[in-house]
Amino acid sequence: MTSFDFFEATELPVPAITPVHAAQIAAAYFGLAAQVTSLGSQQDANFLLRTDDGDPIGVLKIANPAFSRAELEAQDAAAAFIDAAEGIRTATNVAPTGVPAIAELDSGGTLYARVIRFLPGGTLSGNGYVRPAQVAALGDLAGRTVRALAAFDHPGVDRVLQWDLRHGMRTVEVLAGHVADQHRRATVEAAAAAAWQIVADLADDLPVQVIHSDITGDNVVCAGPATLPDGLIDFGDLTRSWTVAELAVAVAALLRHQGCEPATTLPAIQAFHAVRPLGPAEVEALWPLVLLRGAVLVVSGVHQSSIDADNDYASSSLEDEWRIFQRANTIPIRVMTDQIRHALGVAHPAEPITGRLIEDPAVGDIVVVDLSPEADAMDGGAWLAPDCEDRLAADALAAGACAAVTEFGQARLTRSETLGDTSPATVPTGMDLWPGRPLTVIAPWPGSVTVDENSGAVTLTGTDATLEVRGALRPAGAGGHRAEAGDALATVDGRVWIQVRRRGVGHVPQFVRPEYAVGWLTQVSDPGPLLGLPPAAGLADDGVALRQRRARAFAEVQEHYYDHPPRIERGWREHLVGSDGRSYLDMVNNVAVLGHGHPVLADAVARQWRRLNTNSRFNYGSVVAFSERLAATLPDPLDTVFLVNSGSESDDLALRLAIATTGRHDIVAVAEAYHGWTYATDAISTSIADNPNALSTRPSWVHTVPSPNAYRGEHRGPDASKYAPEAVAIIEGLVAQGNPPGAFICEPFYGNAGGMALPDGYLKAVYGAVRAAGGLAIADEVQVGYGRTGRWFWAFEQQGVVPDIVCVAKAMGNGQPLGAVITTKAIADAYRSCGYFFSSAGGSPVSSVVGLTVLDIIESEGLQQNAVTVGDHIVARINELATRHPIIGTVHGSGLYMGVELVRDRTTLEPAVLETAAICERMRELGVIVQPTGDRQNVLKMKPPMCITRESADFFVDMLDRVLTTGW
Ligand code: PMP
Repeated sequence: MTSFDFFEATELPVPAITPVHAAQIAAAYFGLAAQVTSLGSQQDANFLLRTDDGDPIGVLKIANPAFSRAELEAQDAAAAFIDAAEGIRTATNVAPTGVPAIAELDSGGTLYARVIRFLPGGTLSGNGYVRPAQVAALGDLAGRTVRALAAFDHPGVDRVLQWDLRHGMRTVEVLAGHVADQHRRATVEAAAAAAWQIVADLADDLPVQVIHSDITGDNVVCAGPATLPDGLIDFGDLTRSWTVAELAVAVAALLRHQGCEPATTLPAIQAFHAVRPLGPAEVEALWPLVLLRGAVLVVSGVHQSSIDADNDYASSSLEDEWRIFQRANTIPIRVMTDQIRHALGVAHPAEPITGRLIEDPAVGDIVVVDLSPEADAMDGGAWLAPDCEDRLAADALAAGACAAVTEFGQARLTRSETLGDTSPATVPTGMDLWPGRPLTVIAPWPGSVTVDENSGAVTLTGTDATLEVRGALRPAGAGGHRAEAGDALATVDGRVWIQVRRRGVGHVPQFVRPEYAVGWLTQVSDPGPLLGLPPAAGLADDGVALRQRRARAFAEVQEHYYDHPPRIERGWREHLVGSDGRSYLDMVNNVAVLGHGHPVLADAVARQWRRLNTNSRFNYGSVVAFSERLAATLPDPLDTVFLVNSGSESDDLALRLAIATTGRHDIVAVAEAYHGWTYATDAISTSIADNPNALSTRPSWVHTVPSPNAYRGEHRGPDASKYAPEAVAIIEGLVAQGNPPGAFICEPFYGNAGGMALPDGYLKAVYGAVRAAGGLAIADEVQVGYGRTGRWFWAFEQQGVVPDIVCVAKAMGNGQPLGAVITTKAIADAYRSCGYFFSSAGGSPVSSVVGLTVLDIIESEGLQQNAVTVGDHIVARINELATRHPIIGTVHGSGLYMGVELVRDRTTLEPAVLETAAICERMRELGVIVQPTGDRQNVLKMKPPMCITRESADFFVDMLDRVLTTGW
């Protein structure tokens, strides 16, 4: 029999084999007694064979009768070849020895059956989210597959498949008639034709070889906890075709997944290119082929479900196929191709287009208004005002400029949106201009002039470029005429938009999303030089380049969030803004208690800096006022204040005060806690999240009591009351051994575990024991104090105790280095035995003003109350999520110090560690900054700036719901 030709035999119903029949075939032809489960397929009949114990034996594949034995042999041979050449797990033929590898069934027609290796590990089937690492791994797999198959050949690969993109256009033409929806049909036909036009011109330069031709989520299997695709199944579409088609198929397949769009497929293209570099023609053909593949999928899917109405597999895929096509079609081919060139490092900068748009501008006459996230004029949330751009331009004109313009290609903060699940279109493809007085715009090159009747836009189309000016202008003529360089085009009376499109380029939106900015900006030219301005700097330095510089200059042991952190240069309230104008909801910055960029604080600091900054050995008011204010927040007898610069310093000083007061060096701390990085505070920090060696390197003067974790510690729920007597016994044991402790230190609300209240009565009992032993009680309020828990200003109040020493930092300075120790006069005086205390910047006038202003704002803006209101709302909403998402073990915390603990199993409480990290990554993609915490790194810490609104809190929970629903 000759090989298959789709255009000769278009009807391919799946062989009608029942599972019972399949079991008989497995037994009769392969000697396999098996339990049989049917697997879906578009063309063949596939059955999973298992032993009685449920262990997989293999997959029984009964090929569509349209395919010849040679084709099946080629598929088996290719699978074995790729496995041997690249070590990729493949679905090889595993027929038992002694029976033919391909059995010919005695049925009406010729049916061939095989048993194929079952590859353990799930596929990427369905529409769930696919991580960037998985996207890249898919591209890598496709690259390695073609690298292996480059040396493979077989007579069974010369077949004519509708899936071979060399026949893509013909397939669309033949099958499009089955698409009943006329709009869809016309869209698919037009897009396919446009794509084909490009591909056909390149065809001679596209290398051809044997390819798998169906590397999709359904046909890969993933190994290991990282679930990266590393195995390949279903060689049914093996064919000779364009090598680049292997990649196009894989990229198109990605587009069906949640949240995937053309730009998110770039890691796959880069990974493929790293393995099997794409030639220039292949780069140019790639996106047209992705689009063509989408079109083929749409028409084939409709066709298949029309001839095989019972095939659920084919029918259920129709909307997925449409989505693939639509997403591939959201961006013009040439834009995406330029974006791909850039991602592969093979782009060539285009020549600027030159000419003169206005007559003799005087140097300095035209002022460029900075609208970037780094512009000073954006302070205080100024960009959120709808008229921000006009106002800044008006300010520039008022200062005497002849015109104000914006910068081409510079991401505008004014176009940013808070609480968005995708990036906003912030990058301008042209520039705005505001004239100081009416300005004549002249033709920078000869060309034909048109005037849009509706908008009044004037367009000049020359040989190399098209100029468009629109907005507040009066055209010099009715249009439809030719202009020479220097002829007047229009008089500009107010704001206009100027865009210069390169030859052959159609509509270009005014603003584009940063992910596609390079692609779009390649279609246009900077209008600045036409106005006598220097060329624009282009897109801002991106996060990648900055990270590389950081790695060179800034000790890397100071780690950063995320694998690929965005570059953040501005913050406002609970929002952080990337240099590309993307806004993120900040759920982690507990230090910035007031929110980012608070203008009142900034002004107070600036004023004090201008007036005086010195050290606390001088006599000035602010240090006294701040100390009084701090002491007033605490109960008696805590009335004496030390001012330092950080949490580590405050805890370190507290230890020294305890040692000085008691003359003892032994300290009792809680396991799994963090207290700082100095020598002494590091010694009492036993959290392995911060230092994996914390337990083995602990010095002998540090003693720990068990971590009083009521959720997952040794004593849970009501049994958590056992932690206190246990700790008391340890302290008493130390006394009995002759090592009575100088102090007991802990967070009065258990921050490192994700913000958990200590068991009721815990601190009463333990403080009692340490005091009975002659030691002091130290409360580390560095994270949990200052109103964050909402119901209490100091977290120890929750336990109904009063410590001897309170340490605080973080929120105190809203991010400015500020720390304090507040204690009794007697304990403070004991420091005398160590000399006198001095910290150069601790309590400086600037630090004191920061501290006072932070307290003022916490009060005036009602932030502690907001922590209760918004925090309770978040808890209620997360508890509702927990009814639907079993990964949520529990929600810890109070006010705006919370943790969502993620577990693989609510009974064993196995920590969902990889999941938590992956969820945080995807949350960032959706515009939320949230991070793991705790010794197991399985708690999502939620401690946002305390000014967070309910709307922002809802956005956070909605995005978490989306991630937990659609995958990470
Ligand atoms: N104590 C606690 C409870 C902390 O969380 C931290 C910081 N994470 C510190 C002390 C140390 O504070 P700093 O980083 O300001 O030195």
